[in-house]
Amino acid sequence: MSDAPAPPPAPWVKLSSLGTRLVMFFVALLVLVQGLAAFLVIQANSQIARQTIDQELEQGERVFRQLLSQNQTRLEQGVAILSSDFAFRQAIAGNDTGTTLSVLRNHGARVGASVMTLVVPVLAPDPIAWVGLAFEVDDRVAQELNQLTGLEVTFASRVSRGTWQLHASTLTAPLRGSLLAALTGAEGLSARIRDLNMGGEDYETRVTDLEARPDKKIVAVLQKPLEVGLAPFRRISSSFFWLTLAGLALLVGGALIIARSITRPVHRLVEAAQRVQQGDYSRHVDVENRDEIGALAVSFNHMLDGIVSREREILRLAYEDGLTGLPNRAMFNEQLTQAVRTARRAEQPLAVLVFDMDRFKAINDTLGHPVGDQALREVGHRVRKALRDSDVVARLGGDEFAVLLATGGAEHAPLVVAKKIMKALEEPLVIEGQPMDMAASIGIARYPEHGEDASALMRAADVAMYEAKRAKTGYATYDPTHDERRQEFLTLLGELRRAVDSGELVLHYQPKMSFVDGRVTSVEALVRWRHPTRGFIEPAEVIPFAEQTGYITSITRWVLARAIEQAGVWERTGLRIRMSVNVSARDLQQEDALVKYVADALLAAELPAGMLCLEVTESGLMEDPGSAQSTLRKLRELGIATSIDDYGTGYSSLAYIKQLAVNELKIDRAFVAGMEADRRNAAIVRSTIELGHNLGLTVVAEGVETDHEDMELRRFGCDAAQGYFYARPMPAAALERWLSGARDKPVGSRGDILGEA
Ligand code: C2E
Ligand code: CA
Ligand code: CA
Repeated sequence: MSDAPAPPPAPWVKLSSLGTRLVMFFVALLVLVQGLAAFLVIQANSQIARQTIDQELEQGERVFRQLLSQNQTRLEQGVAILSSDFAFRQAIAGNDTGTTLSVLRNHGARVGASVMTLVVPVLAPDPIAWVGLAFEVDDRVAQELNQLTGLEVTFASRVSRGTWQLHASTLTAPLRGSLLAALTGAEGLSARIRDLNMGGEDYETRVTDLEARPDKKIVAVLQKPLEVGLAPFRRISSSFFWLTLAGLALLVGGALIIARSITRPVHRLVEAAQRVQQGDYSRHVDVENRDEIGALAVSFNHMLDGIVSREREILRLAYEDGLTGLPNRAMFNEQLTQAVRTARRAEQPLAVLVFDMDRFKAINDTLGHPVGDQALREVGHRVRKALRDSDVVARLGGDEFAVLLATGGAEHAPLVVAKKIMKALEEPLVIEGQPMDMAASIGIARYPEHGEDASALMRAADVAMYEAKRAKTGYATYDPTHDERRQEFLTLLGELRRAVDSGELVLHYQPKMSFVDGRVTSVEALVRWRHPTRGFIEPAEVIPFAEQTGYITSITRWVLARAIEQAGVWERTGLRIRMSVNVSARDLQQEDALVKYVADALLAAELPAGMLCLEVTESGLMEDPGSAQSTLRKLRELGIATSIDDYGTGYSSLAYIKQLAVNELKIDRAFVAGMEADRRNAAIVRSTIELGHNLGLTVVAEGVETDHEDMELRRFGCDAAQGYFYARPMPAAALERWLSGARDKPVGSRGDILGEA
């Protein structure tokens, strides 16, 4: 959580690009539409302007023609008057040139003609002369026409093919040149000239033929600059342009506002989504808009609620033990890790306790899983209730529990807690009306002495728990020597494997004395390990670990084979001694494999099944009562005798013993040894003997060391006894010697005790 990922790129960059796109789209749309409109309007405008001008030109032409014809009419009238003038005719007839000229001048001035021509007469009787009247077309005439029509007026004529001449014009000198060039270019097809660009300006042009002969062509050119027609539209266009510009500005502003109104809430949603991604479910998105984005925000908040509740449920499932409702192993590890971190920072101690039930497997197997579950629930409940709320109580799995003391971890605190746990479990559990003993073995590890981190602490507590179990002390604090011992055992185990193969194991035999006839009727085979370097190793040191690792089954097979073979040898030499062999709970779990192995060994040694007895400790029976019971029945069916070893230490119920197919009960030596000092032990031994007899079993006392014990046992009616008082375990040859001697000597003489080599 602390090392948060690098912040994502600022979302507004992306969002504003959405705004930009929006603005760009609208701008493009507006420009397109306005541009198209402008194009069409301009097109239409110039069309209209052209048409207007064309109309003006047409009108101008009409006016122009009218003026020309008026002039002509006036001249014609003038000529008619002149030609009928008597004095003029006389002057012509009299060839009076002076008068003729004066009349012509007079008359011409009157009609406004600028040229008066007298065509020299052909002297015939009639007509006598031609008189011509004309007015000269010059710039002044053009100016007059211009004033009347508002058009540029030009007179031109074609002098010869391809050569034109301007006679008069309202145009300036450079424009005249342009016009002349255009006329020359458009030879003969004067009507084609409509648009003329002169001096950089477009002129709407109309060419009117005044006279058109093949050899001669006179035209009047009427023109008006297009610009004049377009001027009003130009004003409209500029308004249109500014209007567009203003619209554009408004549009950009508006689009930006709309874009922001979309992107701001989207931005908020993005931020919220990022918070969720980082595991922060604490804040909802504020819903301001009632639009689609508002709806999205509402959905987002619903989704957030869904995630929160589902995650809570998942966490609960992941971190809670379903059976007891306590935190599970994962949760415990997490809290322990956290607590170690805090303790390290604050330089404070903390403690971990790990415990499991000593006989849980027996309960589970004999009474069934539902009862086992109920027992675990009850244990969890009691321990939880016995401790403070600040202490973490968790179920690690199976019958294993753990407690974390994160606060107030004074050195004695874990011991106090361990005692509290033991006290909480002191009272037998009552499940389905059945009272049940539920002792626990508790391992204690403290931070920082026993482990620097969570896993080291758990391991240390585990080691301590096994030590508590081994020593049967209820609880134990971690001690590094436990670990060393463990390490030693691992080495030992490796060596043990070798020992079985290389003949380092040997068997010693300890006699069981019968009180009935004072004879040795059977012996117990006890394994001995002569280690090549370490010397003699106690079975008590080897067997429990061989049992833990499962290697015991190999040892048992070796012992069985050796002991049965020995008994077979004795049997054939007339020494009828029943052979007792110790088997472990692990061996019994093998059921058929064990039974078959024993049967085969008996067959190979030619030993009757009845000459073999298998001893199983009471606690071994309770480890796996189900398979113990069925294996014992199968052995019994073969005719093999069976015995309950170390009786009195295993809390087995009378009902259970009854069901077991056993022949013998061996009272644990702890009771026998305590008989003299504690009358209660004597009472236990006595009642056990009676109990065994009531069940039809032979009762054997173990560990008899004194005269007194021997006498008491006889008094109580015990069937047989075993102990140093009679003989120590010894090799086969030594036993044979001892037996031959013992036959001649009264039982109970201590002088015959042979020490083990
Ligand atoms: P256990 O089956 O109860 O065997 C009897 C133990 O008591 C033997 O110890 C024996 O030497 C000892 N003992 C006999 N008389 C006296 C006495 O008067 N006083 C005292 N203090 N002890 C006496 P050992 O041989 O050291 O064996 C210890 C345990 O190791 C055995 O207890 C048995 O549980 C186990 N064990 C020995 N051999 C085998 C074996 O071959 N297979 C299995 N599974 N376990 C074995
Ligand atoms: Ca035994
Ligand atoms: Ca025993």
